[in-house]
Parts: sequence; structure tokens; C-alpha cells
Amino acid sequence: MRHAGPLAVVVFLVMAGCGRDQPKAAPAVTSQPATSSSTTSIAPTTATTSTTAPTTTTAPVVTTPLPELSGTVVVLDPGHNEANGRHPSEINQQVDIGNGTKACDTTGTATDGGYTEAEFTTDVASRVAGLLRDAGITVVFTRDTSTPWGPCISRRAAIGNEAHADAAISIHADGGPADGRGFHVIRPLVVAGYNDNIIEPSRQLALAVRDTFSAATGLPFSNYLGSDGVDARDDLGGLNLSTVPKVFIETGNLRNATDAALLQDPSFRQQIAAGIADGLIRFVRAT
Ligand code: ZN
Repeated sequence: MRHAGPLAVVVFLVMAGCGRDQPKAAPAVTSQPATSSSTTSIAPTTATTSTTAPTTTTAPVVTTPLPELSGTVVVLDPGHNEANGRHPSEINQQVDIGNGTKACDTTGTATDGGYTEAEFTTDVASRVAGLLRDAGITVVFTRDTSTPWGPCISRRAAIGNEAHADAAISIHADGGPADGRGFHVIRPLVVAGYNDNIIEPSRQLALAVRDTFSAATGLPFSNYLGSDGVDARDDLGGLNLSTVPKVFIETGNLRNATDAALLQDPSFRQQIAAGIADGLIRFVRAT
């Protein structure tokens, strides 16, 4: 006789990240009627207020306005959106990324304990914004916590382009292999007719952020992607469609216990923010 065990209730939390090993489209989810895909009114220009800002940082971040940075615009793109999992039809719609199509957005990854990449990127971006504004830089966000879902990766790129940003960065934490540690910065490869003019400045931005992030956090270069902390890709809509210098940063691996513990520490997130802000400042001061 077959043993009748307790009924197992399995809860699926759909998680799709942005790493190389992830599927190109978000996982299949329960179909829902299509709703408006408009994202035209959800680009905020102000940061959410952090309530957990620590008092120490190890990075040489500029803390007073620099006259030469007046008029400088930096776009911060916090990866994913905590609400994406509730909007499958919207985020699964395919969008043009210049050399193909891809899902509008994904849910991002999470730790085993449920700390999500989207929550992480929202917090870090807010911290970066504070540091950039201290230096006199104007910050434009691609989303904030009131953004209902997404926006689509194509829209995230467009926000940077429309702002004529001096630099843009998409902030992420990776969902890599459990034994994979460290961070890497992703620079664009050319997608002809789209991002041709940003390849070299984006490479310079990648190197600046790589160096300052390493100094500020002490995190190792990724041991599972890229080379010396830098990767180059042409499958990310946010880079393919950008006409302003732009990189992604995978600040660590949320699927690795060591990295995950660090990324969940608010004081360490301030070091992460300092490393990102300092790289952006170094880049815009040099260009
Ligand atoms: Zn991501």
C-alpha cells in the first residue's frame, strides 16, 4: 500500500535574474489579461529616503559640491522591481533590444531567506543618489518604490537617453552559482545603429567603477563571470539601447552565502554605494 504522507504544499516564488545563465524570457506564469503597457509617467526624479544610513564609509567619496559637477546628470537604474512578480503579463511582454527581443523586465533573484534583489537595488540606488547629490550631481531615477512594475528594460534605457545623462548605471545583485563569489561590471558590446557611440566611454566607466568599487568594498572580482571584474555583453537591452555611457554592476552574488550576508548588511550597502558613487564621480570628472 502506498504510503500516504502529509500533503506537501509547494510554494513557487518565480525568480528570474539577469545573469548569463538565466533564461532570456521570464518564466511562464499564470496568464492574465493584458493591461496597459504604458510607462510614460513613472520616471521619478527624486530618491526615496533611506532610514538606515550608517555613519561610516571607507571610500573617498566627495562630500561637498564640486563646481565642475554643476549641470552633470547621472541616471541610476535600480534593477527589477519588487512588484514585478504580481504583474506577469506586463513584465513578460517582449520588447525590442536592437538585436532581438527580450522580456520587458524580470523579477530578479533573491537569497534563500527571501531578501530580494529588487529590495537591494532600491536601497543601494537611494544611497548612491545621496552621495552623488552631495557632490553636486543631478540624479535621475528609472523607477522608485511607487513604480507599479518594471519599467521595461527598453524604457530604462530611454530614460537615460532622454535625460542626456553624462553617465548611467544599472544596479543589480546576481543570481549566480552557490559557489560563485564576487562582483563584476558589465560594459556594452556594439549593437550597430544603436549604441555605437558609447562603447569606449562605457569601457572607461566600467574600469572606473570596477576600481572604486573594489577599493570601497574589498569584494573580490567575480570568480564565475567576466575577466578582472569586467564582462562585455550585447544581450542586455539596457546597454544595447543606450546612447549615453552606461554600465551594469552585479554587486555580488545573492545565491552565495558569503556575498549574501554582506549585501544584507546596511552598513556594507553604504560601502557598496560609496564604491559606485565614487566611480561615477571619477568618470564624469574625467570627461
Ligand atoms: Zn538583476
